[in-house]
Amino acid sequence: MSSIQDELTKFQTLHNQFKILQGYAQVDTYGFTTSPTPDILFTAITHGNEVIGLQSINLFLEKVIKSNISAPFTFAVMLNNIKAYEKNVRFIDKDLNRSFHVSQKPTGIINVEITKTYEYARAREIEIVIRKLKPKLIIDLHQTSAPTTSPFFVAPEDGRLISMAHALNPDWPIICFDARGFSRDGHTLSEFARNEKIPVLVIEISQNGFDQSLARLMCEKLFYINFEKLTTLQPKPQTVYYKITKQLTKQTQDVELLPGLENLQPVSDGEILGYTANGTELKSPANGLLIFPKYGKSAETSHELGLIATHQLLKNE
Ligand SMILES: [Zn+2]
Repeated sequence: MSSIQDELTKFQTLHNQFKILQGYAQVDTYGFTTSPTPDILFTAITHGNEVIGLQSINLFLEKVIKSNISAPFTFAVMLNNIKAYEKNVRFIDKDLNRSFHVSQKPTGIINVEITKTYEYARAREIEIVIRKLKPKLIIDLHQTSAPTTSPFFVAPEDGRLISMAHALNPDWPIICFDARGFSRDGHTLSEFARNEKIPVLVIEISQNGFDQSLARLMCEKLFYINFEKLTTLQPKPQTVYYKITKQLTKQTQDVELLPGLENLQPVSDGEILGYTANGTELKSPANGLLIFPKYGKSAETSHELGLIATHQLLKNE
């Protein structure tokens, strides 16, 4: 059985073995690169309780070491919110993945209280490292709070990224967001990366928790990435993806989702998905797949209770 402390200790032990590499540099407290210009940056623990990302990265590092410390591509690794990981919580003060800036200067009104949070400061540190590293691709490993019927990708709506995700695993749904953004709560690491013109794929692996066999599958996926092939793919027209077109906005603070809703669950326009305390219905605003249904604390602190992604076909460029 994996435990929070075991996986972190394992990471540090594995990390130490990369220090002999010529291109090695430590880039963060829990971050290093095997090259000054890494092909891929793997990030995990952007949400502290999405622990399988670290478990997968540890297996990947182990596999690289067994292959004489060589991978078919250069890479960097960053563990983004170890403080939250150690407490097995999503975040300390504020969702880190809603704390990124999409311009050098924050836009809009920044609440002074927000700037005092741990995650606000942490997002600035991560932005600096990513700007310095300029990886050619970022793969950000996550898990979902509600159950999910399958792993899935989340990416900016971009033909090349959709084709990359499809090449990595054609069976995992690809959920895209466009320039309108992802959530009203703030910008994600993906939005920051897109703004820096760095291709980025999020993989939502499973519902929160360690899982050795899924982590092993992820390790294999990552290790056998054919980087040259992946990054020179031509967008393939007619590839199926889903685009976030609607949000389940909380009209009132007391609205709650029906219990038991899952990620990737098909919903139809007008379907009842929740109720307010006085019985007012919350209906799905479109046909599509339900993404990130929110319950409990994350529902309380968010502007929306979930997202609806609608079916799309990749067009000719
Ligand atoms: Zn996450």
